[in-house]
Amino acid sequence: MTFEKLCHAHRAIAKPSFTLQVQEPHLTQPVFRFAPSPHGWLHLGHARSALTGFECAHAVGGRFLVRLEDRDALRCKQEFIDQIFADLDWLGIAWETPVLRQSEHLDVYRQAAARLTAVGLTYPCFASRTEIAAAAEPGRFDPDGAPFYPGLHRQLDVNEIARRIQQGEPHALRLDMAKAIARAATKTGDAALGFTELDDTGAPRFVAADPSRWDDIVLMRKDGSASYHLAVVVDDARQGITHVTRGMDLYASTDVHRLLQALLGLPVPIYQHHSLVLGADGAKLSKSFGAPSLKSMKSQGFTATDIRRLAGFH
Ligand code: GLU
Repeated sequence: MTFEKLCHAHRAIAKPSFTLQVQEPHLTQPVFRFAPSPHGWLHLGHARSALTGFECAHAVGGRFLVRLEDRDALRCKQEFIDQIFADLDWLGIAWETPVLRQSEHLDVYRQAAARLTAVGLTYPCFASRTEIAAAAEPGRFDPDGAPFYPGLHRQLDVNEIARRIQQGEPHALRLDMAKAIARAATKTGDAALGFTELDDTGAPRFVAADPSRWDDIVLMRKDGSASYHLAVVVDDARQGITHVTRGMDLYASTDVHRLLQALLGLPVPIYQHHSLVLGADGAKLSKSFGAPSLKSMKSQGFTATDIRRLAGFH
């Protein structure tokens, strides 16, 4: 990726309209990030993501941040966090401190969700996974492969909502996707909802976002934590991220992120989705049977240079 191309694309970022405490994207210095969820050991796929962000930042004199997406208290472990930092360090990656930990910022995500609630775009959903799977249209899935939410509690009676909440029944907060898309359209007018994406050579192109392939996504989960979609959008804005480099597995998520940015009045970063590192079975590494961790590869004698090469860097 050339410096000129990156900077050209960078200048194309629209000025934000501030509704949250966002950092104005710095118009001369790009900001990249690697945002792992500490739910396990990093593997080659993570190495590719981290190196993509770090090398791009390095190439253009930009900043590089690491953000811990540790919202899920049950799945996050300190040993995974410690190992993430050790692995990145081993690969020669340097990042700014302090590192933002999403687990420490629940209030900010709640506030963002409340903004969407205030304009009538959300509703509480008490349904269990089993109820949703039973009611879902067979064969219809969201881009993540989960049963497409059939709108079960979209129209619950207000008294019933009040009663269930009063009884302490846990609920998720969902985005009413049809209403959200309609509202975003009033904000963007004739302009298509979309984002700038860089291809492998760094050339920018405008991609239209199609959030309608998602169902009524969860914003706040039943356990009280924020969803990935909400938190990632809020934090990319708060941290002034200008370039989101991540794997193709998150490609479809960008459509819904773009929608949330429009609804919350947040700046839109430039995106680059890199190809995935596949396991010997052809599956993406996180799903691949026995995908080796960087930690185990190191103990088997692989060097950091080997890992960089295997992740596609020289
Ligand atoms: N935390 C996400 C993951 O580990 C990545 C978030 C992102 O890069 O947008 O899959």
